[in-house]
Amino acid sequence: MARIYGEDAPVKAAFPATAAGAAKLPAAPRAKGLLLYVHVPFCRSRCHYCTFHSQAFNQVTFAWYHKLLLQEIDLWGRRLKNPPLRTVYFGGGTPSLIPLTQLDQIMKAIRKAFNPVPGLEATLEANPDSAHDVSYFRALLSMGFNRLSLGVQSFNDLDLHMLGRPHSAAMAAASFQAARQAGFANIGLDLIWGLPGQRVNTWIEQLKAAANLRPEHLSAYNLTVEDGTAMARMVGEGGDFKLPSEQEQGRMFIYGSEFLESMGYMHYEVSNFARMGFVSEHNSGYWTGSDYLGLGPSAVSTIGRRRFSNPRYMDEYDAYVRGGLVGQDHEELTDQDLLREMVMLSLRTAKGLDLKLFREKAGYDLVKRQEKLIAALHQKHLIRISHGHLRLTKDGMLVSNVIIRRLAFDDD
Ligand code: SF4
Repeated sequence: MARIYGEDAPVKAAFPATAAGAAKLPAAPRAKGLLLYVHVPFCRSRCHYCTFHSQAFNQVTFAWYHKLLLQEIDLWGRRLKNPPLRTVYFGGGTPSLIPLTQLDQIMKAIRKAFNPVPGLEATLEANPDSAHDVSYFRALLSMGFNRLSLGVQSFNDLDLHMLGRPHSAAMAAASFQAARQAGFANIGLDLIWGLPGQRVNTWIEQLKAAANLRPEHLSAYNLTVEDGTAMARMVGEGGDFKLPSEQEQGRMFIYGSEFLESMGYMHYEVSNFARMGFVSEHNSGYWTGSDYLGLGPSAVSTIGRRRFSNPRYMDEYDAYVRGGLVGQDHEELTDQDLLREMVMLSLRTAKGLDLKLFREKAGYDLVKRQEKLIAALHQKHLIRISHGHLRLTKDGMLVSNVIIRRLAFDDD
């Protein structure tokens, strides 16, 4: 359930020819290597709140996807000239639905096409209903996966039923224990808060159940009710459920994060917590503006200033990969786009926005340019400036979207 996204196309078509006639390739991936995201668009069933791109798993469509994905991996590897790879992240969808033999083939293709750096972080998102045997997790380890992200969402069976999850709380705990027993030393759990009927105390109980398992990482996402979902009908007019009030949700966020900090988890991004040494390298790479390559239907990539978007549906993806269209269309990011992304992404992190770095890139001082807004936010204890960084306070994180939008876009 990833939030972030994720050619034998004629190279000339994708990257315009230089004066010498050679294809102009994107600059070599910045920093320590590329972040690779593999989108797996299959799920067992549709959860009631979900708007991610996924479809019901079936062998025929999966075989189609698998073949195209291997082609796309090979193509990008050649196009980028076997670049160093620092992370690989299988998200979706439900990557744990991929049969082991095919998953092994995909991992081998990635190792062949790219150049994994020592200590490569390799994460697989797994759901408890499709990842539960010790032997399954041992097989993942043998393929090189060293990080697991388990989609638990809740340890309460009534909540799970309401969310439309195809597993119970007991299955989630059993899945975690099996992964640990197999030897996974880096396991993250995903939870959702702000559920209909939830209160601060019942949310803290969820966090206690999660912390009792001693995962290395926890992601806690606020339930977003999107139009057209089953959840929207459940909480809409005439529906049976009622969302907690804004004030109650505010308390859940603050008390929940304080509870996790008291249990030794660092609150390093609005929705993410980690024990020392277990911050997600992959997600941190996104937030610090590293290059990332997304493979599979609907995946997005950013390499240098170029943003590529893969088609969403399988037939379009087929035409895109087999028809030699991969990487043809890209959006060229402007300086302003890059600066806005820098503000939007870094303000979500505990480290915040490096003001000196921003000044060097932008050629102006954000604090001076946004003096009134920053003074007002500071007075309301929503932001603070320390050690040259602009950071959101916990109260600020609660309304992070509004603050970030204003700081990033109000200078037009
Ligand atoms: S497991 Fe549920 S929430 Fe995750 S992508 Fe599939 S349908 Fe969506």
